[in-house]
Amino acid sequence: MPSPEPHILVTNDDGIRAPGLLALRDACAEVGDVTILAPNHNWSASGHVKTMHKPLRVSKVTLADGTSALSTTGAPSDAVALALLGLVDRPIDLVVSGVNHGANLGHDVTYSGTVTAAMEAAISKVPAIAVSLNTREQADFEVAARFAASLAQQTLERGLPEGVLLNVNVPPLPADEIAGVRVTRMGLRIYRDELIQRVDPRGKPYYWIGGPAPTGVEEEGTDIWAVANGYISVTPIQLDLTAHNLLPAVHEWELKL
Ligand code: MN
Repeated sequence: MPSPEPHILVTNDDGIRAPGLLALRDACAEVGDVTILAPNHNWSASGHVKTMHKPLRVSKVTLADGTSALSTTGAPSDAVALALLGLVDRPIDLVVSGVNHGANLGHDVTYSGTVTAAMEAAISKVPAIAVSLNTREQADFEVAARFAASLAQQTLERGLPEGVLLNVNVPPLPADEIAGVRVTRMGLRIYRDELIQRVDPRGKPYYWIGGPAPTGVEEEGTDIWAVANGYISVTPIQLDLTAHNLLPAVHEWELKL
């Protein structure tokens, strides 16, 4: 009996109508059976969310190419939780999140709905990949989606240890201009956030966190360096955030109640 096709959940944080989602679905369909369950609006920079104080709705929607998908009122991580908890009846073998419109490099992963969707899968012991394209301009997601699908294939074959996911960032270049693939560590983002204060029609102040897009330290071996130099970056990320090398020092504080 032929083994069944692997079942891949595709989600994102840009919302169910985002072109990066369709490109990813098309590419992943070459690797397995794809189910889409994605948020019904843009959740970029929403971080890791578990919606606990309001109901989650799920509806069947028709995508731009006429195919159907599931969309939810929840966050990207909620979408993954819903699917893995049984909303989708067949077990999920792999979660692929993206293709995000904008990079998720360095500390971005803590803000990213794209990456936290993959983290939610890792918490549930399902292998996961987050994929982002390093541009905020009009973009073609096909190269990133195609690479994600080939990585999905390898991930299904090799598996990933528990509590680990792969964070992928792709430069916005045609395939023949991409320098190659680098396995990287997280780099250091430089945020240039500015506090913007305005006054509402009632005379009260309100605030935006504004400022130009972040840059980063282009240290060789990091995700930021790789993408800046035309490479696809693949960073294995773990949920264990313990600063292991700080444990002895904090022990020496001899903490007491
Ligand atoms: Mn996004």
